[in-house]
Amino acid sequence: MRNTERAKRIKMILMDVDGTLTDGTILVFPDGEELKSYHVRDGMGILMAHLVGLKTGIITGKSSRALEKRAAKLKIDEVHQGILDKKRILEDICRRQQLTFEEIAYIGDDLGDLEVIKVVGLAGAVADAHPLIKQASHFISSFPGGQGAVREFIEFILTAQERWPEIEEKLTELTKIK
Ligand SMILES: [Mg+2]
Repeated sequence: MRNTERAKRIKMILMDVDGTLTDGTILVFPDGEELKSYHVRDGMGILMAHLVGLKTGIITGKSSRALEKRAAKLKIDEVHQGILDKKRILEDICRRQQLTFEEIAYIGDDLGDLEVIKVVGLAGAVADAHPLIKQASHFISSFPGGQGAVREFIEFILTAQERWPEIEEKLTELTKIK
């Protein structure tokens, strides 16, 4: 099946965090607090997905309060931190959201993402993902993690679903209110 056909069926976009929404860098302070950076264009991509009624979610092996805040600000629907078995969480999400694997898109970068990448309807890899992740994915971003890869993945789905007129209209409405 062609990737555009796969993308047309997507109702929810799930993302890994470290190395996908970030470039993988973690700055550790002497007190143990960690600092990561997120790309504003990925945030805008998530907003655009929400504008047309697509759901979003995060599944990450690590945990951070900063991520919790960023996810809340972006109104991400499902946030799962400290997860080792990502596929089990995927199954939980599908049950809760009443979706099938075919209706889920997932983007990741490393081996912890492999089991999910293998089963979702549309799997994406960042440009600097592990070779096995790239091999198993349908879509490979031209951007590395933390530098707009998620935005490109989301836009690929929006284009396949012919959502741009709707997005432009809704963005105009948003600008008017503010
Ligand atoms: Mg990762």
